[in-house]
Amino acid sequence: MSETYIRENLEQIEKRIQAACDRSGRAREEVLLIAVSKTKPASMVREAMEAGIRDFGENKVQELCEKAEEIKGLTERPEAGAINWHLIGHLQRNKVKYVVDQACLIHSVDSLRLAEEIQKEAAKKDCHVDILIEVNIGDEESKSGVAKEEAVGLVRAVAPLSRVHIKGLMAVAPIVSEPEESRPYFQEMFRLREEIRFMELPGVEMRELSMGMTGDFEVAVEEGATMVRVGTAIFGGRNYNQ
Ligand SMILES: *Cc1c(COP(=O)(O)O)cnc(C)c1O
Repeated sequence: MSETYIRENLEQIEKRIQAACDRSGRAREEVLLIAVSKTKPASMVREAMEAGIRDFGENKVQELCEKAEEIKGLTERPEAGAINWHLIGHLQRNKVKYVVDQACLIHSVDSLRLAEEIQKEAAKKDCHVDILIEVNIGDEESKSGVAKEEAVGLVRAVAPLSRVHIKGLMAVAPIVSEPEESRPYFQEMFRLREEIRFMELPGVEMRELSMGMTGDFEVAVEEGATMVRVGTAIFGGRNYNQ
């Protein structure tokens, strides 16, 4: 596990994102690469930081908080190594208090009750929290996220919460064998974001579209993703039994 392979993987991904931007007439700055470091040690996060990455994604609150703490310890000059931590996995209401002041963006808000809990904890900590509304775009029973028919209603309900700022939408597309098969889901997400954006709801910004992973991030960029969440292609495969 040498540093070179993370750096090389990142160089390849950078090229692929750039090419997808070129194909679709987008500027590279419109797309944020989030390195998904779940199950991977803080030392690998640091290697990716040394290659220029500042945004990292974790899907579990405890792992995010522990790694954030560990990274602070590894970095001699904390201000030089500031990380933006993205919570991308399902969030339980009883974990909200640990993460509201740790994550720069919570990608996975899919109910009013969860947003209300975030509002409550943000008030206690006197902070504001940026969130995305997660949409179950493939209508899969196994996945979290609000049904796409209910997304507008949820955005309307969450919008008045003063400490919870909606920045856009997020989706985990169904697992497919060919990246092309993800395209209709990404197109549907783009359409949904545009629909909500044109409503110009007070307090709602609909700029971000978090979609695309190792298997399909190029297609996601072509279809308008502003954030891609890539784990395996940067850090290698994950072993959940360690
Ligand atoms: C793990 C995970 C990713 C990254 O998946 P890869 O296929 O390893 O790139 C992206 N988004 C979410 C929500 C995840 O849980």
